Amino acid sequence: MSAQLAPSSISSPVQPTVARHTVAVAHGDGIGPEITDAVLHVLRVAACPIDFTPVQMGEQAYLAGHGAGVPPEAWDVLSRHRVLLKGPMTTPQGGGYKSINVTLRKTLGLFANVRPCVAYHPYVHSAHPGMDVVIVRENEEDTYGGIEHRQTGEVMQCLKLVTRPGCERIVRHAFDYAVRHGRHKVTCLSKDNIMKMTDGLFHRVFEEVAREYPQIAAEHRIVDIGAARLATRPKDFDVVVTLNLYGDILSDIAAEMAGSIGMAASANVGLHGAMFEAVHGSAPDIAGKNLANPSGMLLAAVMMLLHLGEHDAAERIHNAWLCTLEDGIHTPDVFNEMTSKRRVGTREFAHAVADRLGREPRRLAPVRYGAMPVETSAAANDTPPSAPPHAADKTCDGVDVFLDWSPETRDPDILATALRAACVEGWRLAVITNRGVKVWPEGHPDTFCSDHWRCRFLAEGEPATPQAILDLQQRLVAAGLAPIKTENLYRFDGERGYSAAQGE
Ligand code: NAD
Repeated sequence: MSAQLAPSSISSPVQPTVARHTVAVAHGDGIGPEITDAVLHVLRVAACPIDFTPVQMGEQAYLAGHGAGVPPEAWDVLSRHRVLLKGPMTTPQGGGYKSINVTLRKTLGLFANVRPCVAYHPYVHSAHPGMDVVIVRENEEDTYGGIEHRQTGEVMQCLKLVTRPGCERIVRHAFDYAVRHGRHKVTCLSKDNIMKMTDGLFHRVFEEVAREYPQIAAEHRIVDIGAARLATRPKDFDVVVTLNLYGDILSDIAAEMAGSIGMAASANVGLHGAMFEAVHGSAPDIAGKNLANPSGMLLAAVMMLLHLGEHDAAERIHNAWLCTLEDGIHTPDVFNEMTSKRRVGTREFAHAVADRLGREPRRLAPVRYGAMPVETSAAANDTPPSAPPHAADKTCDGVDVFLDWSPETRDPDILATALRAACVEGWRLAVITNRGVKVWPEGHPDTFCSDHWRCRFLAEGEPATPQAILDLQQRLVAAGLAPIKTENLYRFDGERGYSAAQGE
């Protein structure tokens, strides 16, 4: 077979009667074009009924002044095609450039990031032979809203936003994935012993949704010990679902533990579209040298085929790839003395996979996708929320007023005296905290106090009204204690919608 790959914009030679898919393909930067061409070659030989439309995005688009790396015409293609196979892209060095992945995920509403982390021992070295874990990471919420503020000379703030619909979508996506892929357990990781409201909501929704899937075991672990166990006993895990930040960190660790980050694939799935890519970056150090391993992107393409309902093609390609590994045909990054027989380049590896279409691995377990239910982006959309939001009876207990206050002494008792003097009738200063720790009344003298004070005022008798809160603030301003921010303290159907101060 010729070592020359087909042109990158290709149509598969299938019967015209077969329903065809249209997919946008971005070749990316660095090793992106090489591995993308390699993957498209395998898809073409496997006669996948897909028409690809090339789309330009990445480093050149950044440098041409498109701050997010995606020019307007690329957005048009993405809107029409709804599915993107994406090569890795270089983020130019220096400030001012936004991550293209974050831009794509958020703009296209790709709420779920799914990363299978599988060991291919003994063909690829892994500290954990037999590891087979799928990390399902929430992709849009948490601290990744990028809502950050400098509030005082000393204090920066990052808002962690977690929504019930967001939790329901990602948790349901994890359980649906488990059902479709014949998995038996979903583990939820959160830190709800500390963040009782945000992570607590995630955990609570997990318990609610889990009840809809009695055939799948469900467990929750605190993320710190859960991560430690994942790193040391990955066999205890099957599917893991977690919030954005924890998932971001854990999915890289898990991919690395499985063997090579160069072989890990990821799917970003939303209600209206999906994006498939390798986990690794554009590897400029080996770009253009025919050295890159195209496996991560090829496995991403397998996930894309499953998403499109092309299960037979996905199964044939995945098994041909496993055969190639087993036959010891390895790119330099995974070449080893024990199991490698031929060191090959990107192109030759792709040809070896294509040559093995129709074969199954003998030592590694073959994949079986034939009977798997079809995945649709809209599946989560079709399922009504398990607990539809209802019009809760919302009342206001009071207000947390945040102050920038930095006299030399930083004595909380002095601040409390000033606040109580300014307090209007109907309000009571309940507590002052600094960085969340109670410093008044009865603070501990060793507690470090920054210039950022949270002063909790509770309404006495009647619930607080917006006007009463404004009146209180006016009094504080008049006393020289201008608020830098306020948070109202609501109850929903009588239940407290705010956390107690630490030590309160
Ligand atoms: P990288 O993943 O590109 O490379 C890290 C190391 O792994 C390098 O030594 C590289 O040679 C090797 N490597 C990566 N993929 C390989 C493959 N398929 N085969 C063989 N070896 C491989 O990470 P980096 O160097 O930190 O980032 C390079 C650029 O990629 C940066 O601009 C970064 O912003 C970008 N990046 C993009 C994505 C993406 O588009 N999804 C992800 C991560 C990084």
